[in-house]
Amino acid sequence: MSEYKFLPTVLILITKTRNNMLKSKISIGSCYIFVSLLLILLLPYQVFSYGSSSGELKKYLLLMEEKFSNYGWKDLHPREIPWEYYRTTKYKRPLMFVSFGDGSKNCILFFGGVHGDELPSVYLMFKLANYVKENPVLFKDKCIVIAPLLNPDGFLSASSTRINSNGIDINRNFPTRDWPAKAISQWIAKGKNKRYYPGAKPASEQETIFQIALIKRFKPQKILSAHSPLNFFDYDGPSSDLNSFEKWMEQICKEINHPLKKFGYYPGSLGNYAGHERNIFTLTLELPSSNPGQGKHYFEQFQTSILKFINLPVVGSPPNVRIINNNK
Ligand SMILES: [Zn+2]
Repeated sequence: MSEYKFLPTVLILITKTRNNMLKSKISIGSCYIFVSLLLILLLPYQVFSYGSSSGELKKYLLLMEEKFSNYGWKDLHPREIPWEYYRTTKYKRPLMFVSFGDGSKNCILFFGGVHGDELPSVYLMFKLANYVKENPVLFKDKCIVIAPLLNPDGFLSASSTRINSNGIDINRNFPTRDWPAKAISQWIAKGKNKRYYPGAKPASEQETIFQIALIKRFKPQKILSAHSPLNFFDYDGPSSDLNSFEKWMEQICKEINHPLKKFGYYPGSLGNYAGHERNIFTLTLELPSSNPGQGKHYFEQFQTSILKFINLPVVGSPPNVRIINNNK
C-alpha cells in the first residue's frame, strides 16, 4: 500500500542512527528512547495520510472497471468522479463516496452495493454519480452524496457475496436499540442463515461505521438505499409524516408500476437505524432482479422516481423533518 512506501527508508534510517549511537557509546536506554520518540513523531503521518493516497484509489478503480466490463457495464466511468475516502475494508478496499452540489443544503444520501451480490444496485449508483456529475445545473441547489459500493469485498470476491469479508450482513450490523436483545436471538430463531449473520457485536464492521459516519457528517433528510431482487419500494421514517409520504410513494409507484410494501425493519438494519430511530426518510429500492445485465434498464426505469425523491420538498433537520408539499 502506497502510504507505507516511505517505511523501508525510515526503518533503514532508524537502524543506522541506532548503530551510530551505539558506536558513539550512547547508552542502549537512551538509544531506545530516541527510536520510540521517532516512531511517535511518525505516527500522525501514518494516520493523516491515509485518505489522500490517490495511487491506492486509482488501483482500486482500475480493478473495479475490470469487474464492470465482465458485467458489460461499459458506460460507467468511475475514474472521472472526484471520490473521497477515509477508511477501508478488511481487504483494504477504499470505502468511497462523492458529494455534489451545495453542501449547506439539506442532503440526500444514496447507498448501493450494501449486499455485494446485488449487482445492478452497484450499476445504478455509479450511473447516478455519472448523471449528477454531467448535469450540475439540475443539482446546483441540492446536496447529493453517493456511496455506490458499500461492500466492495463482497462485490469483488470471485463469486460475489451478500456478506462482507468477515461473513457479516452489514444491513444487520447497525447499533440499533434492539440489537443487543434481538439481533443474534432472531438470527438463531430463523435458522442461522449465514447470509444474514449480524456479527458478534453491533457496528463491528468498517462498512457499517462508514455509513454511520456519512449520516453523522451530512445529516441527511433523505436516504435511498438500493438492493435487489425483491422488487418493491419500502419506506422507514418519521411516523407523523407517514401518511403524506405514503401517499406520495403510492403515486410514484403507480407511475412506474413498482409495488410499495411496508416490509418493516430488522435489528441492525439501516431502515431501523436511520428511518425508525433517527426519523430520516429512508427509502429502500428493491430492484426486480440481481441480473447485472439489467443495470442500464433499471436506471432508465427508476431514474424519474429517483429524481422526484431528490426533489421531494422536505423541511427541518432529523429527527424533525417533514414533507412540505406532497403533490409534486
Ligand atoms: Zn440487499
